[in-house]
Amino acid sequence: MGANSSEFFSAACKLIPGGVNSPVRAYKSVGIEPRFVDRAKGSRIWDIDGREYVDFVASWGPMILGHAPEVVLDAVREQLERGTSYGAPTCAEVALAEAVADAVPSIEEVRMVSSGTEATMSAIRLARGYTARDKFIKFEGNYHGHSDALLVAAGSGLLTLGIPSTPGVTAGTVADTIVLPYNDLDAVAAVLEAEGEQVAAIIVEPVAGNMGVVPPREGFLQGLRALCDTYGVVLIFDEVITGFRVALGGAQELYGVTPDLSTLGKIIGGGFPVGAFGGKRDIMEQLAPVGPVYQAGTLSGNPVAMVAGLATIEALKAPGVYEELERKGAKLAGGLCRAAGSAPVHTVCNRVGSMACMFFTHLEVSNWTTASTSDTGRYAAYFRGMLDRGFWLAPSQFEATFVSLAHTDEEIDAFIEAAAEVLKSV
Ligand SMILES: *Cc1c(COP(=O)(O)O)cnc(C)c1O
Repeated sequence: MGANSSEFFSAACKLIPGGVNSPVRAYKSVGIEPRFVDRAKGSRIWDIDGREYVDFVASWGPMILGHAPEVVLDAVREQLERGTSYGAPTCAEVALAEAVADAVPSIEEVRMVSSGTEATMSAIRLARGYTARDKFIKFEGNYHGHSDALLVAAGSGLLTLGIPSTPGVTAGTVADTIVLPYNDLDAVAAVLEAEGEQVAAIIVEPVAGNMGVVPPREGFLQGLRALCDTYGVVLIFDEVITGFRVALGGAQELYGVTPDLSTLGKIIGGGFPVGAFGGKRDIMEQLAPVGPVYQAGTLSGNPVAMVAGLATIEALKAPGVYEELERKGAKLAGGLCRAAGSAPVHTVCNRVGSMACMFFTHLEVSNWTTASTSDTGRYAAYFRGMLDRGFWLAPSQFEATFVSLAHTDEEIDAFIEAAAEVLKSV
């Protein structure tokens, strides 16, 4: 089939559309072919061509402890011996539900699914069922997975590949999706004033992480909370990235705003496929088998994924973990700003905790309009320069650079030094 990344990619392209199972992995927007991964451990990842990198992608967020942490491997090994899926209740799913409910302020009850996409799709359905209303509001450049109704003006790969809307999603499916600019409370207020009684939910990334990193403006999340209370709208925080990332309790803990429903994914699977949605008891109990809103899954609450998630959360509960992530995130972003400051190129660096992103623009980036002014050609050159120097970054401007607990200060210093050099010539 092949011996190196290039040969495997040719073979893959004949068997898998674009050679990949998720579009951004194809490296199209950075003008090179993807590297095939052989293995990863701690902060490091190795390709099949024998090159070693310091990884700042973290599998797009989940690997907050670094790769293959012993605590997760031990839990998974033990579970594997006892079977990998039963389609019946297990103690592990109750333990993970308890850990999630303890940590995340909005969650009284939670249901496990197998991806973030399923979590957001199900949360929207539940909000619609609960309110008996059809419409919902989402924000431009926020990505909530690839279910039809949410795939409008979405971030992540669509932004990277310049796909504004997707064939296959019918006008009817998105007729009840209202898209507004991120961080624009006035726009939300205007829509709710006009048609608040038809709006079931507002879904928002409390820190946007799929158009690069865009923090909420002061008062934005609080304002959404107040508007939702006024109009009886279900507030959904999509914390698939931010949950257990920006604080143990996610962005809702960090900003002190409690939504009605929250969606989780990425970190809570400890590197296995998991999503979850949860919230207030009276809303969650609309779900079957208690209530009428249907939702199900053959592999939901998969025991291997549950023990991996549980081991990850246990590790994150150790004292000082989020202080360390904050310190390392600040070190990386601060160093990057200084490096960019002496380069002949305009950049702005956004960061919340261990999520950072440098945009190649001179504008403050607070929404999709400003994020999309970033010079993606320059990002591509920066990406290639960093890859050549052994730093594995997201092959897209519109993703986060993730710091993990496995990164050492020396690795972050080396990253900044390499960036300073690369930025001189992008
Ligand atoms: C990654 C992501 C999703 C989708 O999760 P998948 O597991 O890829 O389906 C949804 N929402 C946000 C905010 C995400 O970052």
